[in-house]
Amino acid sequence: MSYKAINPYNGELIREFAETSNEELEAALKKADAFYRQAKTEPISKRAELLAKLANEFTNNIDKYARFMTTNMGKRISEARGEVEKNAAFANYYVNNGEKNLKNQTYKSVAGKKAHTEFNSIGTILAVEPWNFPYTQIMRVFAPNFILGNPVLLKHASIVPECAQAFEDACKTAGLPEGAFKNLFINYDQVNKVIADDRVQGVALTGSEKAGAIIAAEAGKNLKKSTMELGGTDVCIVLNDADLETAVKGAVSARLNNSGQVCTAAKRYIVQSRIYNKFLAGIIEEFKKKKLGDPLDETTTLAPLSSKTAQKNLQEQVSKVIAGGSKVIWGDPTPVEGPGAFFNPLIITGMSSANPMYDTELFGPVAQIYKAETEEEILKIANHSQYGLGGAVYSSDPKHAQKLATKVETGQVALNQPLSSNPEFPFGGVKRSGYGRELSDLGIREFANIKTVLE
Ligand code: NDP
Repeated sequence: MSYKAINPYNGELIREFAETSNEELEAALKKADAFYRQAKTEPISKRAELLAKLANEFTNNIDKYARFMTTNMGKRISEARGEVEKNAAFANYYVNNGEKNLKNQTYKSVAGKKAHTEFNSIGTILAVEPWNFPYTQIMRVFAPNFILGNPVLLKHASIVPECAQAFEDACKTAGLPEGAFKNLFINYDQVNKVIADDRVQGVALTGSEKAGAIIAAEAGKNLKKSTMELGGTDVCIVLNDADLETAVKGAVSARLNNSGQVCTAAKRYIVQSRIYNKFLAGIIEEFKKKKLGDPLDETTTLAPLSSKTAQKNLQEQVSKVIAGGSKVIWGDPTPVEGPGAFFNPLIITGMSSANPMYDTELFGPVAQIYKAETEEEILKIANHSQYGLGGAVYSSDPKHAQKLATKVETGQVALNQPLSSNPEFPFGGVKRSGYGRELSDLGIREFANIKTVLE
């Protein structure tokens, strides 16, 4: 197993990290367990103060933290700065709301008995995280669990080791106690060892369906709680009565942000027939404006993919999509040569369930467009998916949009805007997009012992 930071813009090796030894792993588990026991004796307010310091560490050093993302996985520098700020916002949400979210809840039985539930910590949580949002994916798990009193051990994606290390260093600089958070450069066997360890009580994973199924099975085998934030083929539904400009703007940013490498990216545009031509012309216009380039250059509008492996995988997927009968309606599917992991943006049409690639998650700047006559047809396409993460509905009548949103089988839907994650709102999916919720009051209770006390 190798943890290497390789710049996807030019293929240069930046830094390689040694694997965590079994002895170091055992020391980390011991320290985490000690933190868990110590935190039980201390008020939440103490941890909230420390978490606020961690948030400040990120907001006071935006460029420093942003640069690691840009050079490790190619995020455009302006998007990277935005992620550092969002990372602090996720932490600050739990600084300000964590204690409130964990307040006891009271219950009454028909027979007149009273009880309350309290939210207790359960032990160490393992976070297995992907490279696409190298900090916020960690913070979504770390901030709520830290407030609750659960230590977090991290197994980050092997291509963003500098980001993983930077998060740990930020925790140290902010003065967080040893054991509260530890980054581990561990291999898959060690991941299984961690899940099986009695001191570890849960595992949170964000990533592919494949990794999710493996880790969920390990957790199940050991009877440990797990949450899974997996992939999706999210829809962007554009109804005849949509405001064209709003729909085009939202659809393009929802597909091309982060070079299309977002679990909730709008991977399928489903457009009603009367607005179809204008919408297609609008998105082609916007796609044309995108300029591939160095993600450190402020004028670049489309960055490379996260790695050469990601580029190769997407290239193979697109070739299969075309071989399966779909067409590139706009863009150049010829592979981009050179050391950078570049990928030309594409718009694909003619995708049907007869294509073996139907419902495959394309993790890059590749949009699929479908034309549909009726709303029944729209919903049939939207819900004909093994995934159920997110989506968006565009209509100038919000009630109309809401009516359709209720019928879309996903964990979240946005009305007349691209879907985004907000610390105040629950985030997660259904079907093969996973289970459990991150962020909000629900996220902080995922790994809590919800203890019922009869009074
Ligand atoms: P993976 O799902 O393989 O990686 C996510 C995390 O899981 C990484 O930390 C990875 O570690 C770890 N992991 C993977 N397999 C195992 C295993 N058997 N045991 C323990 N840990 C494991 O994502 P990839 O980076 O390989 O991306 C592949 C595809 O996944 C993408 O093209 C996209 O479709 C989807 N994806 C979805 C994301 C989302 O947000 N929903 C995010 C990222 C990817 P390591 O890096 O060391 O393999």
